[in-house]
Parts: sequence; structure tokens; C-alpha cells
Amino acid sequence: MDKESDIVIAGGGPAGLAAGLYAARALRRTVLLEKGVIGGQISLTERVENHPGVEAIGGFDLAQTMLRQAESYGLETNSAEVLGLERLDDLWVVKTNHGDYRAKAVIVTSGADYNRLDVPGEERLTGRGVSYCATCDAPFFAGQEVVVVGGGDSALDEGMFAARHVAKVYLIHRRDELRAGRILQERAFADPKFEFVWNTVVTEVLGEEQVVGVRLRDVASGEERVLPVAGVFVFIGHHPNTAYLRSLVRMDEGGHIVVNEWMETDQPGLFAAGDARSNSARQVVTAAGDGATAAIAAERYISSSFPVE
Ligand code: NAP
Repeated sequence: MDKESDIVIAGGGPAGLAAGLYAARALRRTVLLEKGVIGGQISLTERVENHPGVEAIGGFDLAQTMLRQAESYGLETNSAEVLGLERLDDLWVVKTNHGDYRAKAVIVTSGADYNRLDVPGEERLTGRGVSYCATCDAPFFAGQEVVVVGGGDSALDEGMFAARHVAKVYLIHRRDELRAGRILQERAFADPKFEFVWNTVVTEVLGEEQVVGVRLRDVASGEERVLPVAGVFVFIGHHPNTAYLRSLVRMDEGGHIVVNEWMETDQPGLFAAGDARSNSARQVVTAAGDGATAAIAAERYISSSFPVE
């Protein structure tokens, strides 16, 4: 039999956890579904220093605190992967790998996933030297040399974490200017273990059982060379986890769900918040703000569409 609730939240990052807190505090029966680790991207973030009111906290700890807080008001969390949504009369049926959930409103907070380089060797050597989380894996490379690919906040943040463990970090960036914010840039430039390799891309990850190096190409001269390293950390951005909603809801060209200022999509009772929505600032605090807004909007939608039973 389908599990029934007022609100189903698809995804357990900051947007989903904040939505869960607000929905549960509004005394709506609310179920949050998460297929992986609660916290999403922040659970893999070494340090969060830009959450107002919290000077510095580990991302995993922040997520666990948000979870405890929401659960203390009655949020139910289940481990399940959302596979699709269907409209059934005035309800939503949320299809998951652990059965169907029926809800009056659904808040999509499925966030975003990391991009891959898509070069030979990357997939085969993932977990054998190729990683997308320095916070998780850098200690395995203690005393060795690694590359970090990307020029955004994630590359610098995670690269500086890696630098605490490894002998040297080569930061490989395809341009001669970083995208990352100034504070992180200044810290990375001051880190003696960092060497910046500008205007360069990785064209192959080398190794049989384990990574032994990368093939690099200078994008200006076209010159190629091999750099021997034991690890490759990739931080080249993210894409929204919204494929399961394609053709159901309006999206932008990048696959982000289009919402208005109340996080309402073009479907009744369907809301989207955080990195999965269009025009997100992609910060913990903005995702949490989105989640709170979506929960308030969902509560209003239920109150007006489902008069007291
Ligand atoms: P991002 O800001 O989109 O940066 C991605 C980087 O990867 C860019 O430098 C980009 O190069 C490069 N890149 C993209 N595709 C590439 C490819 N195929 N080959 C080589 N390089 C490629 O992504 P992010 O760093 O993951 O950050 C995502 C969001 O999270 C941002 O809003 C960021 O501010 C936020 N964030 C914040 C913090 C913090 O505040 N401490 C920490 C982590 C993340 P170009 O610059 O040439 O485009």
C-alpha cells in the first residue's frame, strides 16, 4: 500500500532539511526521502564559514544538526531514491525504489551532482586515485603528490584540505584566472604546497590498478606532457539532479526547475528549492532559505486546496 503524508520532500540537503523543519513545525505529516548521505554536498564540505550565526562548522556536523532539529519536530526521514512523480487526482504519487508515497504537496530538493572530466582512465580509476571528495579521500594520499582540477570555490576549498595531508597539490585550471572567491584565492596563493598550472586541461588519467599520473595539454600551445601524481581530485562544477522530472515540469536549459519567488513550479502542489531550481545562488544559506519558503508555500497550498477534512 502507498505511504501517505501531507508533504514529501525529495532530497536531504540544506534545502530539504530546512523545508522539513518548517513543514514539520507547521504540524504537517512530512516525509523526507534521501537516497545517499543526509546533507548532500555539504556533508562533503570540510568547513562552512559563511552560514550566518555560525562562525565555522564542519559540513557533516551542520547537516546532522539540521537533521536532529527537524526530526525533533516530527520530520520522518526515509532512505529511498525518487524515480518519478505522477499526478493522481489532486495528489502526487512519488515513485521510489522502496515503493510509492502519496502526498498533497511535493518539494523537490534533489540538489546537484558533480561533473566528470569525461577523459580516458577517469571512470576506470575512480576510487583508485580519482576522487570527487578531498574531504573524504585526501588522507589516503598522505605524503604523495596530487592534482586538483578546477578553478572554483570547491577546487580551492577541497584543494586546501588535501594540502594538509599530501606533499604537493598541482591546481590544474583551464584558464589563467580563477573563478573562486577572493578570500579562498588569497589563501590558496599563500599555501606553500600549491602549484598553479594555468591554461591547462587533463586529457587522460594514467595507471592500470592505481593512478600513476595525468596527461596534460596546454590549451594555448597544444603541448602535451605527463605529470606523475598518485591522486586526481576533480572539482569542475555540478549539474542538477532533476532528470527524473523531465517532461513533467518546466526547466531551464541546464535542467534546473523553473520556479517563482514562492518556489512554485508550473505544476499544482509541486515546489522546488535549492540547487535543483533555476537561478539558485548555490549556497547553504540560500538553499535553506529556499527550503523554508517552499515549505511555507506548500503549507498554504494544502490549506487552500484541501479544506479541513
Ligand atoms: P563552479 O563555481 O561552477 O566552478 C567550476 C570550475 O571548474 C570553474 O573554474 C570551471 O572553469 C571549471 N571547469 C568546468 N568544466 C570544466 C572542464 N570540463 N574541464 C576543466 N575545468 C572545468 O563550481 P564549484 O567550485 O563546485 O562551486 C559550485 C558552487 O558552490 C559555487 O556557487 C560556489 O560558490 C559554491 N561553493 C562555495 C564554497 C565556499 O563558499 N566555501 C565552497 C564550495 C562551493 P571556468 O572558470 O573556466 O568556467
